[in-house]
Amino acid sequence: MATINNMEKKTLFQRIMEREIPAQIVHEDEWCIAFRDIAPKAPTHLLIVPRKPIPSLDALMPEDASVVGHLFVVAKQLAAAEGLTNGYRTVFNCGQDAGQTVFHLHLHLMGGRSFAWPPG
Ligand code: AMP
Repeated sequence: MATINNMEKKTLFQRIMEREIPAQIVHEDEWCIAFRDIAPKAPTHLLIVPRKPIPSLDALMPEDASVVGHLFVVAKQLAAAEGLTNGYRTVFNCGQDAGQTVFHLHLHLMGGRSFAWPPG
């Protein structure tokens, strides 16, 4: 029963999509939504989130390939819209070692400063 309840519980990002929690939304379409990260790690820090509540990259199924591709197309468009002409970084954190904290797949788009490589 607990598992069923967890599956029915909306994710934080679904609640943003449904306007139950406020966010600075910068893009919305049939497949995804994008909004500003509440604790930005760069001058521009957006989260691009599929409407489908896929928990993480690890839970991705072959049929999700097109939506993930779409997230990158949107990332490129938003990077241009944000004026990130000098480059930017996209990141999926997956699981505990990568520091994933919200278990609804999201692509980070960060720019407006230079980034170290390798990342910490
Ligand atoms: P991750 O650590 O990869 O799971 O990323 C989750 C991101 O969600 C973090 O960068 C948080 O700052 C961000 N975040 C958490 N709550 C909110 C919120 N209510 N609105 C916007 N961004 C959020």
